[in-house]
Amino acid sequence: MTMSEKKEDLKNNLSPEEYYVTQNHGTEPAFSGKYDGVKTPGTYHCIVCGVELFSSESKYDSGSGWPSFWEPSMDNNVETEEDHSAGMIRTEVHCNKCQAHLGHVFPDGPQPTGLRYCINSVSLDLKPSDEE
Ligand code: FE
Repeated sequence: MTMSEKKEDLKNNLSPEEYYVTQNHGTEPAFSGKYDGVKTPGTYHCIVCGVELFSSESKYDSGSGWPSFWEPSMDNNVETEEDHSAGMIRTEVHCNKCQAHLGHVFPDGPQPTGLRYCINSVSLDLKPSDEE
Protein backbone atom coordinates (compact mmCIF):
# COMPACT_ATOMS: atom_id res chain seq x y z
CA MET A 1 0.00 0.00 0.00
CA THR A 2 1.24 3.52 -0.78
CA MET A 3 1.16 6.24 1.88
CA SER A 4 -1.93 7.87 0.36
CA GLU A 5 -3.74 4.53 0.11
CA LYS A 6 -2.89 3.90 3.76
CA LYS A 7 -4.31 7.31 4.67
CA GLU A 8 -7.50 6.61 2.70
CA ASP A 9 -7.84 3.23 4.41
CA LEU A 10 -7.52 4.79 7.88
CA LYS A 11 -10.06 7.49 6.98
CA ASN A 12 -12.55 4.78 6.02
CA ASN A 13 -12.00 2.75 9.17
CA LEU A 14 -11.83 5.46 11.85
CA SER A 15 -14.37 8.06 12.95
CA PRO A 16 -13.38 11.66 12.08
CA GLU A 17 -12.41 12.29 15.73
CA GLU A 18 -10.39 9.05 15.96
CA TYR A 19 -8.58 10.01 12.77
CA TYR A 20 -7.90 13.56 13.94
CA VAL A 21 -6.49 12.50 17.33
CA THR A 22 -4.48 9.43 16.28
CA GLN A 23 -3.13 10.67 12.92
CA ASN A 24 -2.89 14.45 13.41
CA HIS A 25 -1.87 14.55 17.10
CA GLY A 26 -5.20 16.00 18.14
CA THR A 27 -6.66 16.17 21.63
CA GLU A 28 -10.26 15.40 22.56
CA PRO A 29 -11.93 18.02 24.80
CA ALA A 30 -11.40 17.35 28.54
CA PHE A 31 -14.23 15.41 30.25
CA SER A 32 -15.68 14.48 26.83
CA GLY A 33 -14.15 11.04 26.36
CA LYS A 34 -16.05 7.82 26.95
CA TYR A 35 -13.34 6.25 29.17
CA ASP A 36 -12.83 9.17 31.55
CA GLY A 37 -14.08 7.90 34.92
CA VAL A 38 -14.57 4.32 33.71
CA LYS A 39 -13.45 1.66 36.23
CA THR A 40 -14.42 -1.48 34.29
CA PRO A 41 -11.75 -4.21 34.67
CA GLY A 42 -10.08 -4.98 31.36
CA THR A 43 -7.40 -3.98 28.91
CA TYR A 44 -7.17 -0.91 26.70
CA HIS A 45 -6.06 -1.49 23.11
CA CYS A 46 -4.93 0.77 20.27
CA ILE A 47 -8.03 1.92 18.33
CA VAL A 48 -6.04 1.76 15.09
CA CYS A 49 -4.08 -1.52 15.22
CA GLY A 50 -5.49 -3.34 18.26
CA VAL A 51 -2.35 -4.01 20.32
CA GLU A 52 -2.71 -3.89 24.12
CA LEU A 53 -1.47 -0.63 25.64
CA PHE A 54 -2.85 -0.17 29.16
CA SER A 55 -4.66 -2.13 31.88
CA SER A 56 -7.52 -0.99 34.10
CA GLU A 57 -5.24 -2.01 37.01
CA SER A 58 -3.04 1.05 36.49
CA LYS A 59 -5.91 3.43 35.64
CA TYR A 60 -6.71 6.13 38.18
CA ASP A 61 -8.79 9.28 38.44
CA SER A 62 -6.39 12.19 37.90
CA GLY A 63 -9.17 14.78 37.73
CA SER A 64 -7.73 16.00 34.40
CA GLY A 65 -10.73 14.96 32.30
CA TRP A 66 -8.79 12.33 30.35
CA PRO A 67 -8.24 8.64 31.12
CA SER A 68 -5.03 8.45 33.17
CA PHE A 69 -2.70 5.53 33.81
CA TRP A 70 0.43 5.33 35.92
CA GLU A 71 2.09 2.83 33.59
CA PRO A 72 1.57 1.02 30.27
CA SER A 73 0.70 -2.68 30.59
CA MET A 74 2.82 -3.51 27.54
CA ASP A 75 6.03 -1.46 27.66
CA ASN A 76 7.08 -2.51 24.16
CA ASN A 77 3.81 -1.29 22.65
CA VAL A 78 4.02 2.25 24.04
CA GLU A 79 6.70 4.70 22.88
CA THR A 80 7.36 8.31 23.85
CA GLU A 81 8.87 11.27 22.05
CA GLU A 82 9.72 14.85 23.07
CA ASP A 83 7.05 17.26 21.81
CA HIS A 84 7.70 21.00 21.42
CA SER A 85 4.27 21.93 20.03
CA ALA A 86 1.81 24.39 21.60
CA GLY A 87 4.65 26.39 23.18
CA MET A 88 5.40 23.70 25.75
CA ILE A 89 7.92 20.93 26.18
CA ARG A 90 5.92 17.77 26.71
CA THR A 91 6.43 14.07 26.19
CA GLU A 92 4.17 12.68 23.51
CA VAL A 93 2.90 9.08 23.77
CA HIS A 94 2.18 6.89 20.75
CA CYS A 95 1.56 3.29 19.75
CA ASN A 96 4.87 1.63 18.95
CA LYS A 97 3.30 -0.66 16.38
CA CYS A 98 1.29 1.77 14.22
CA GLN A 99 2.51 5.20 15.50
CA ALA A 100 -1.04 6.30 16.46
CA HIS A 101 -0.93 9.34 18.76
CA LEU A 102 -2.29 8.43 22.19
CA GLY A 103 -1.66 11.43 24.46
CA HIS A 104 1.11 12.77 26.69
CA VAL A 105 2.94 11.62 29.83
CA PHE A 106 3.56 13.97 32.77
CA PRO A 107 5.73 13.55 35.89
CA ASP A 108 2.88 14.21 38.35
CA GLY A 109 1.34 10.75 38.66
CA PRO A 110 0.95 8.49 41.70
CA GLN A 111 3.49 5.97 42.98
CA PRO A 112 5.04 3.56 42.16
CA THR A 113 6.01 5.30 38.89
CA GLY A 114 5.13 8.94 39.60
CA LEU A 115 3.93 9.15 36.02
CA ARG A 116 0.59 10.22 34.52
CA TYR A 117 -0.09 8.82 31.08
CA CYS A 118 -2.82 11.23 29.97
CA ILE A 119 -4.54 9.42 27.10
CA ASN A 120 -7.34 10.33 24.72
CA SER A 121 -10.38 8.05 25.02
CA VAL A 122 -10.77 7.99 21.23
CA SER A 123 -7.29 6.45 20.84
CA LEU A 124 -8.36 3.51 23.01
CA ASP A 125 -10.62 0.47 22.77
CA LEU A 126 -11.54 -1.17 26.10
CA LYS A 127 -11.86 -4.92 26.13
CA PRO A 128 -13.63 -5.79 29.43
CA SER A 129 -12.07 -8.83 31.18
CA ASP A 130 -15.39 -10.69 31.42
CA GLU A 131 -15.68 -10.68 27.61
CA GLU A 132 -12.20 -12.00 26.90
FE1 FE B 1 -1.50 1.01 17.17
